[in-house]
Amino acid sequence: MMAEPLISARNIKKYFDVAGGKLKAVDGISFDIYPKETFGLVGESGCGKSTAGRTIVRLYEPTDGELIFNGINIFKLSRKEMQEARRDFQMIFQDPYASLNPRMTVEDIVAEPLDIHHAYKNKSERSDRVIELLRLVGLNEEHAMRFPHEFSGGQRQRIGIARALALKPKFIICDEPISALDVSIQAQVVNLLKELQEELGLTYMFIAHDLSMVRYISDRVGVMYLGHLMELAKSDELYSNPVHPYTRALLSAIPIPNPDIQRNRKRIMLEGDVPSPINPREGCTFVDRCQYAVERCRQETPLFEEKSAEHFVACHIV
Ligand code: SF4
Repeated sequence: MMAEPLISARNIKKYFDVAGGKLKAVDGISFDIYPKETFGLVGESGCGKSTAGRTIVRLYEPTDGELIFNGINIFKLSRKEMQEARRDFQMIFQDPYASLNPRMTVEDIVAEPLDIHHAYKNKSERSDRVIELLRLVGLNEEHAMRFPHEFSGGQRQRIGIARALALKPKFIICDEPISALDVSIQAQVVNLLKELQEELGLTYMFIAHDLSMVRYISDRVGVMYLGHLMELAKSDELYSNPVHPYTRALLSAIPIPNPDIQRNRKRIMLEGDVPSPINPREGCTFVDRCQYAVERCRQETPLFEEKSAEHFVACHIV
């Protein structure tokens, strides 16, 4: 990548105090996100990907690490400074049913960020901006005075997207934005996100467990397991040449539309359970489920290293 990163995340950690110790939801992840790209973050539920997204926008306070955005370490900002910086950082949530206040009109929902940041001169400017935003996401001005329950799931997610765009952000974290929607609607929302990215020059982090959709939308993809990044590469490279044993197992479970290839393909079954992220032990977090594990894997945590051009892997044997 030639451009300077828009986001540089370094050694980000988010631990929670729980009965019995520390839950290490995110345990030292590092990556860059470049302007106008989509960075996909995938993994099974409980791997820490949503916590990573929420920590980046400081909905959760980080335990450690740096997040450099436009030369500024976002994690060092005071609450007041962070509120200002949040104009550039927005989030689209998984559940469009839960993330919209049922007692507010669509106009008030979409205008909420404008209200918080006093981003208009008068009421008519506020209404005009809301209508502009609704049109941008494929809705129209007649929808402004309605309430969330009057809309379908896909339309509600469009309202959530309009709200996220209100302050003209540069960077949007899409946290499983389609997993609560019907399959028939998912592609429409993903296509809308792609169109908006093109039109507005947006940069996305797209968090998901559906690996096929992540491939479709992402330029590069990171694979998380138990709070750690296991592999990161350009999307085509990761899907055609997965290196980490965990990525290979995840990808082997995706059906291939060609029946000949699908018939002869071997699915790699993951042995054992996902271990608890509370007080994890030393060594590779994947060791109990890895068919290639050697003694070293139990003693030493593998470094996340660039094994070939722009292809990072954390594994002792590759
Ligand atoms: Fe498997 Fe060892 Fe590699 Fe971990 S470091 S993925 S246990 S081979």
